[in-house]
Amino acid sequence: MTRIGTPFTASGKKALLCGSGELGKEVAIELQRYGVEVVALDKYPDAPAMQVAHRSYVLSMLDGKRLREIIEKEKPDYIIPEIEAIATSVLVELEQEGYCVVPSAKAVSLTMNREGIRRLAAEELGLKTSSYCFAETYEEFRQGIERIGLPCVVKPVMSSSGHGQSTVCTPADVDEAWRNAQEGGRAGAGKVIIEGFVDFDYEITLLTVRHIGGTSFLEPIGHRQVNGDYRESWQPQPMRSVALEKAREIAKKITDALGGRGIFGVELFVKGNDVIFSEVSPRPHDTGMVTMISQPLSEFALHVRAILGLPVPAIRFLGPSASRAVVVEGDSREVVLDRLEKVLAEPDTAIRIFGKPEVKGHRRMAVILAADETVAKARAKAERAYAELKVEVL
Ligand code: AMP
Repeated sequence: MTRIGTPFTASGKKALLCGSGELGKEVAIELQRYGVEVVALDKYPDAPAMQVAHRSYVLSMLDGKRLREIIEKEKPDYIIPEIEAIATSVLVELEQEGYCVVPSAKAVSLTMNREGIRRLAAEELGLKTSSYCFAETYEEFRQGIERIGLPCVVKPVMSSSGHGQSTVCTPADVDEAWRNAQEGGRAGAGKVIIEGFVDFDYEITLLTVRHIGGTSFLEPIGHRQVNGDYRESWQPQPMRSVALEKAREIAKKITDALGGRGIFGVELFVKGNDVIFSEVSPRPHDTGMVTMISQPLSEFALHVRAILGLPVPAIRFLGPSASRAVVVEGDSREVVLDRLEKVLAEPDTAIRIFGKPEVKGHRRMAVILAADETVAKARAKAERAYAELKVEVL
C-alpha cells in the first residue's frame, strides 16, 4: 500500500527533480498536493520548479560526482528526471544501489541519446521509423547524406527543442547543416543522426501512462513545430481508427521496452493509415501542456499518480482544447507579460507563466490554454488570446 507521512520526517516521502523547467514545476506542484517533499535541481538559480520546491541545488546535472553527492545526502524516495542532459550512468548505478529512478534508469539513459532510442525502436522492436544513419566526422556525414538522400533532417544525437537541427533540401544546405549540428549539440561537437524526411500528413504526441493497473493512453495530441520547437498543440487530433490503433500498439511496445512507471510522450508521424515512430520522452511532454485544460488529471497529475503507485482508474477528457506557447526573444533579466485581462477575457482560457528569470536569444516563458466546442475553435481562441498578449523585454 502507498503510505505518505509528514514532510521533513522519516515517514515522509521525498522526490528529487533533475531539471526544474516549466514541466518540472507542474510535477512539483502535483507532488506538493500529496505532501511529498520536493527537492529541485537545475543549472541556474530560481528555475521554475525551484520556486515551488522545498529546497533546491544549483549544479550541472552532467556532473555525475556532484549529482551523486546530492542524492546521497538527500536520499530521495524518487529521482525524477525532467530533462535529457543528465549524467545517466550515475542514475544507472544508483538504481542498482536501490534508488527508484523514474520511470527507469534504462529509459532515461536510452532516451538521452537519439541513437539509443532509435536503435531500440527500429532494430530491436522492429518499429517503422524514417530511414536513418549516424555520422561522427564530416566525411561520414557527406556519405550519410548520399545514402539517405535529399531531403533529409539532421540533428545532433544529443539535443532537444530543435537545437542544432536542420532540414537539408539541396546540396547547398549540407555544410550549414553540419556546422549547425556541431554547434547545437548538448555536449558540444559530436555525433549526428541523418534522417530521411518524412512527408507526414500530421504528427502527434501519444501520451502513455504506465501505472499500477497497466498502461493507459490519453487522447492523441496534434502539434505544430517551428524549427523543431513546439508552438501550438491541440487535443484530440482527429485520427482514423486504424491509425490510432497502430499508434497505441507502437506506444505500448516502446513503453513496455523502457519499463517503469510514469508518463511517456510518444512522438509519431502519421501518413494515411501509416504510423511512423519518431521518438519518446519518458516524462511529461511540452505539447502535453494542453492537458492542463483538457483533463481533470493533467499529464503531470497522471505522472505523479503513476510514480507514487496510485491508481489511474479512468482518464477523463473534458473536450477539444489547445495550447499556444509564448516564446519571447531578447536579452534581459526582466520580462513583463502585459494585457492579461484581455488575454483571459473569453471563457475557458488560462495562462501559465513559468517565472523564468532570464531570456537570452529565445525562450518559452508561458503557455496559453483554451477549450471550446471543436479543436478549430479552441485553436482559434488560443490564438486570439495570444494576439492580445503584450510582451515587454525590459
Ligand atoms: P525532434 O526533436 O526529433 O522531435 O524533431 C522536432 C520536429 O522536427 C518534429 O516534431 C518534426 O516536426 C520535425 N522532424 C523531425 N524529424 C523529422 C523527419 N525525419 N522528417 C520530417 N520532419 C521531421
